[in-house]
Amino acid sequence: MENIFGLTIQEIDKRCHELQMPSYRSKQIADWIYHKSANSFEGMNNLPKDLRIALAAQFSILKAECIKQWDSTDGVTTKFLLRFFDGVTVETVLMRQPYGNSVCISTQAGCAMGCAFCASTLHGVTRNLTTGEMLAEVFWVNDYLHIKNQKVDTMVLMGSGEPMMNYDNVLGFLRLIHEKYCLNFGYRNITISTSGVIPGIKRLEKEDLPITLSISLHAANDNLRSELMPINKKYPIHDVIAAGKAYSETTRRRVTYEYILIHDVNDTDKDAYDLANLLRGQMANVNLIPINPVRERNWKRPPKERVGEFLNILEKMHIPTTVRREMGTDIQAACGQLRNQYECGIEREFFD
Ligand code: SAH
Repeated sequence: MENIFGLTIQEIDKRCHELQMPSYRSKQIADWIYHKSANSFEGMNNLPKDLRIALAAQFSILKAECIKQWDSTDGVTTKFLLRFFDGVTVETVLMRQPYGNSVCISTQAGCAMGCAFCASTLHGVTRNLTTGEMLAEVFWVNDYLHIKNQKVDTMVLMGSGEPMMNYDNVLGFLRLIHEKYCLNFGYRNITISTSGVIPGIKRLEKEDLPITLSISLHAANDNLRSELMPINKKYPIHDVIAAGKAYSETTRRRVTYEYILIHDVNDTDKDAYDLANLLRGQMANVNLIPINPVRERNWKRPPKERVGEFLNILEKMHIPTTVRREMGTDIQAACGQLRNQYECGIEREFFD
């Protein structure tokens, strides 16, 4: 049975062709699903009863269920472990930022990219998430915030997975959530983060949507980057940066380069100068992320002074730079860490 949650009005229309339904009915159905958060066809009381029965025979309305929730002690971050119809789980994170509620969405269950510092990729990729499943992540958090009369304001595609390896579903999701009959979500409030999959960046550039692009760089030379991020062997650093530059020129939006700081690995003065030189002349800014230590690796955060010096060099070289606020480290908020602990049954060790 097909899941209707995640279909556009046009897709509903097409699928319902055999039901000989006038097209305004598709709008009514979308209104029930996306505005009124209906979970069954039964209560759609502006549709004829026969149609409701026919729809129920053809479609399901499946979202996600939450099987676990963690709150950071500072109250800033809440992490949800969501489960889809086939038992696959993903993490979705709510971050209460000064500028509003931001949600961090997973685009795949697991990840195939193999980055050395990332917990999401330790068990590979299970499968791509569908348009409806990514939308269900946002709906879950919206429903959770609804009780407090709040909603999701901004969204980052920075959870588990590589969005560019699930391009069609991701774009379908972004276009759907932007629709007025769905959540009317502004493209300017969306950031999509990639490990540097150039064909995906090029495709997104052609869409010409005002979405912010974030590129995970994490090293300023090919040798180190290839070690940390195997994708660099396919798409080396200078090509990735050229793709970022083209994206910012087409969309007139500043590209963010993410740079995890790992002590004694990529945090020297030379690394900072090399990074600044790479980005010079580009509409770009850098987001420094002191690494969230992952249980399976032996890497450490640089001391605060080192982070400060790294930042100073970039600023001196006129690269706008921010340091990511530490959020939710007490709930292991780095990508994929909670899901791994849950799936490996070692969660108790961490939280008891
Ligand atoms: N695949 C995409 C999006 C998911 S990763 C990408 O690579 O951008 C989202 C961000 O979290 C990336 O910048 C990633 O490098 C970062 N990240 C992964 N593991 C981390 C860790 N242990 N500490 C801090 N940031 C981490």
